[in-house]
Formats: sequence, structure tokens, C-alpha cells
Amino acid sequence: MSLRFLSLAGDGIGPEIVAATEEVAVAACAAHGVTLALDRHEIGFAALARHGTTIPEAVMAAARAAQGIILGPVSHNAYPPVAEGGLNPSGVLRKSLQLYANIRPARSRPGVPTPTGHAVDMVVVRENLEGFYADRNMHMGPGEVMPTPDLAIAMRKITRENSTAIAQSAFALAERRPRKRVAVIHKANVLRLSDGLFLEAVRAVAADHPGVAVEEILVDSAAALLVRDPTRFDVIVATNMYGDILSDLAAELAGGLGLAASLNHGATHAVAQAQHGSAPDIAGQDRANPGSLIGSVAMLLAHLGHPGPADTIMAALDAALANPHTRTPDLGGTAGTRAMTRTILDHIAQAD
Ligand code: ATP
Ligand code: MG
Repeated sequence: MSLRFLSLAGDGIGPEIVAATEEVAVAACAAHGVTLALDRHEIGFAALARHGTTIPEAVMAAARAAQGIILGPVSHNAYPPVAEGGLNPSGVLRKSLQLYANIRPARSRPGVPTPTGHAVDMVVVRENLEGFYADRNMHMGPGEVMPTPDLAIAMRKITRENSTAIAQSAFALAERRPRKRVAVIHKANVLRLSDGLFLEAVRAVAADHPGVAVEEILVDSAAALLVRDPTRFDVIVATNMYGDILSDLAAELAGGLGLAASLNHGATHAVAQAQHGSAPDIAGQDRANPGSLIGSVAMLLAHLGHPGPADTIMAALDAALANPHTRTPDLGGTAGTRAMTRTILDHIAQAD
């Protein structure tokens, strides 16, 4: 059995956590008789310097052909304008590969403190191609307009098709989890048409899943409930911006961004990508927590039908995280990126 992933190092801490993730994924696959090959391409500032664009066409071709993609974080906020080659590689991949689902688990780990003292285990399932963000509704006209210098208007795109697709992802996931609950996040009391359509689509999918308990929660009340009692949440399904915001909140409740894994997928492609950005403040210092991206590659492997290597990675990651001496400073630990990675590799070798 063999697999081939495209690996894109990105900016900031990207090269450090991608290198760690590659090593861990290759070792876990090998432990299950799977040969994982990696095609490495440059994106971000490295690609800009060499090819005049942060995401060259050769990378797009490789992405379309890849079975899976490991995407390092990128410093797109610091890129030059699009006309000078500064595209956001993450956005370009998301749109061209039609990655409509962004799956963001927030799970606390044994031995890692959480801000509320509660153990949490939830997954935010976020619609990824439409909503309020201007770059995601361009094809219906500019997503934001400024009729006068003192008036700005943002538009929000919601379709029945994508709302149904994201709801199907959420309910399928809930059915595989012990608690089988879905919280549907909305603000249909004020955004009657757009959140109304989203709710209607989710309710139709819910009707096909009678074994899953559903509750509809206003987004503001969801933010409060997450802090008051994060244990009541299992799967959360949300439109793009609500999902973006609540998933950062959930990640923090679970222990921090350094643990925040995510998978972006569509019908044909899937991308492992940490929830956080490129963390330029700690780049190159061997301080970045690789757990976010390592957890993401485990999700990618499970998504592609390889639960064995995925489970091996998660168990080894949990073991490293449990001990302050083998986890990174963001989680109150003393280990560097490389030492933590070495510990994870040792656990994989022992499990073998
Ligand atoms: P960007 O502009 O790329 O989003 P940022 O400066 O906003 O970069 P984020 O990556 O979003 O940085 O991170 C916010 C904070 O969390 C930073 O202080 C960063 O150091 C920290 N952080 C993020 N990811 C990690 C990680 N994997 N390990 C340790 N600390 C992290
Ligand atoms: Mg950021």
C-alpha cells in the first residue's frame, strides 16, 4: 500500500512544523505497512522570491494530482498585493479544490491544563466557501462595497447546496461519535433570509438522521455557553464566520492554538492545515508546537481511509503532550519543536 502527499512548508513556523509532521506521518504509515511519499513544493515568500508568485501554477497542478496535501501556515497578511504575486495560497487551494468543509476538533488532552478546568471534546464543522468573507462570494459581485467614503457594505452568500453539504458532514460525523449531538449555530432572528436558509437546509438533513440529537443555538448564546459549560458540546455546525470565531474559542478552551488541528475537504481533495497562522513571533526558534499540524495529518489519513496510522499518531501525540518535559512552551512545557517530535517518533516506534 502506498500514498503520495503534496507537502507545502509555508512561512513563519511553517517549515518547522511541516518537517515534524512529515516525519511523524511517514513513521506512522510505515508502522502500518503504508509507504508515504512526499512531493515538496515551495509556496509563500520562498515561492515569491523564486517564481514571482506565492502559489505557482506548478503547485496547483501538483495539488490537483495529490492524494492528500499537508499545508503549512502562510503569512498572507504580509504579502505584497495580488498584482505583485501575493496571493493567499490557502484561499487559492480552498477555492480551486472546492474545499467546502473545514473540520476543526477541539479536544483537551490528559495532563494539559484548560482555562475552564473542564475536559472538552467537540468538533466545529465550518462551511468554508461562502458566508460573509469578501473573498468567498466574489462570483456574485464584490463581497464588500464602499458607496461613499463613509459607508461600507458587506454581503453574505449562503446557498442551500453548501448548507446541505456541510450539514451532511456534521451529521455523518456526529453519528460516528459516542454522544451523537449536533448544535446548529445561527442568528436567524436577525439574519432571517441567510441564516434562515442555512437553518432550513440543516433541518432537512437532520430529518434523515433521527439518531442524532439536534439543538439550534444563537451564535451569541453559543459563545457564552462554550465558556460556561464546554462539555455540553459535541459537534457544532456553522456558517463560515461563526465557525471561524467559535472554533478559535473552542481551541483555546481545549488548551490552545498549538493543539488546534483542522482538515479542509471537498468531494475530491483534502488538506491538512493547522488552525493557527504562521506565528512569525516564534519562527526559527524551535519553540513552535507541531501538535496542531500533526493532528491535522492524522485527520487527513483517517479521511483517506487509513485509521490505523491516524490512531497511532494521535496516541503518540497525546503521550508527548501529557508530560511537560516533552511538550512545547505554549503549553507550559520545556521541550523544543524537535524534542517534542522526537518523543512522538519514539512512541510510534514503541507502539510498533
Ligand atoms: P498570521 O498573521 O500568520 O495569522 P499571527 O501572528 O496572527 O500570524 P498566529 O499563528 O495566528 O499568529 O498565532 C497567534 C499567537 O499564537 C502567536 O503569538 C503565536 O506565537 C501563537 N501560536 C500560534 N501557533 C502556535 C504554535 N503552533 N505553537 C506555539 N505557539 C503558537
Ligand atoms: Mg492570526
